[in-house]
Amino acid sequence: MFNKQLYQFFSQTETPFYYYDMGLLNESLSKLKQAAEKYNYLVHYAIKANANDRILETIKQYGFGIDCVSGNEVKKAIETGIKPEKIVFAGVGKSDAEIAYAIDKSIFSFNCESMEEIEVINEWGIKKGEIVPVSLRLNPDIDAITHKYLTTGLPENKFGIPLQFLDKVIHQTNNLSHIKLIGLHFHIGSQIRELTPYIELCKKVNSIQDVIFDKHGIELEHINLGGGLGINYENPDAELVPDYARFFDTVHEYLKLRKNQKVHFELGRAVVGQVGSLISKVLYIKKGVNKRFMILDAGMTDLIRPALYGAQHKIQNISRPEAQIMNYKYDVVGPVCESSDSFDDNVMLPMTIRGDLVAIRSTGAYGEIMVSQYTLRDKPKAIYSDEITNEKGEHLFSKITVS
Ligand SMILES: *Cc1c(COP(=O)(O)O)cnc(C)c1O
Repeated sequence: MFNKQLYQFFSQTETPFYYYDMGLLNESLSKLKQAAEKYNYLVHYAIKANANDRILETIKQYGFGIDCVSGNEVKKAIETGIKPEKIVFAGVGKSDAEIAYAIDKSIFSFNCESMEEIEVINEWGIKKGEIVPVSLRLNPDIDAITHKYLTTGLPENKFGIPLQFLDKVIHQTNNLSHIKLIGLHFHIGSQIRELTPYIELCKKVNSIQDVIFDKHGIELEHINLGGGLGINYENPDAELVPDYARFFDTVHEYLKLRKNQKVHFELGRAVVGQVGSLISKVLYIKKGVNKRFMILDAGMTDLIRPALYGAQHKIQNISRPEAQIMNYKYDVVGPVCESSDSFDDNVMLPMTIRGDLVAIRSTGAYGEIMVSQYTLRDKPKAIYSDEITNEKGEHLFSKITVS
């Protein structure tokens, strides 16, 4: 991933920074497109994973839509040139201003998480003289088998409408003048590495559909299964592009669709996760009583996932690519005045010295977008592989265009 030329460029660049491999992004997107087209599945990229202009521009070129969870994300998607009919908008706490804005923009679907929200949207529909397309985000009571902060489909999570309320919600929604029920929406969690939760989800959707069709005689245009497909954090190079084909094949096998029903997905992490690395410089190797601390110039303000959910990212000393033996143990930490400002404990690495460069891998998703300026730290810059040139202005890593 980091060859000599690239390393040379890195060593002359101010750290820390996010490095994005645009060749890999294109590969990921083209495989995703191919796998989705096989079944006519529609993908809305979950913009909260990474909203950098270069990333969004590239995603747009493949024709994907956008999944938003805030009004500003809807705005960003529209500014990027994504057609409103490809934009979906979820979130448990949509504000009045966000609702009014998204109605004005005629987005494809409001993915609604409560009856209370649907009532407010209906009022806005009346005020604006618009019939608003709504999908019900259901909480299917499925354990996504992931970190507890990354599950969203269990009764104790704040997300979605509990299945027990579905009947009542459909009944009440049908009585609202300015709501059009167009679909069902699910998003059971994130960093899901097993396909079994998705199989379980498909089966649940099948039985929910049976109930809706039989009891209410409603035909829904679309089923949105959300995102959550995980990536390989332990060994990124073994799986730089997630197995989208296997994921969609599995859904196709288990999900029973009604006539003319479309299936939508909202993948975030899977699309961009492996594309980014946080590159940082070693400031000090500090000797502790029983520990050896590797203090980096990147901290929790640059990448909060380890502090926020105990996430583990592969850490590589890229100044010593030839090193065969990882015989030094380090606690890799940042410079911020918080004990949680730590990337990982007991990391086995080659002997490392001040000035070495370290890559924190798989940080393309939920990395840069969560940057904060706590302790007034600078924000890390973003560097894109296809913008790197040598002193003669020649591109080192050829510009990639979509075929
Ligand atoms: C965050 C989110 C996603 C994307 O999740 P990933 O794990 O990044 O694929 C999809 N849908 C909704 C509603 C979300 O909140």
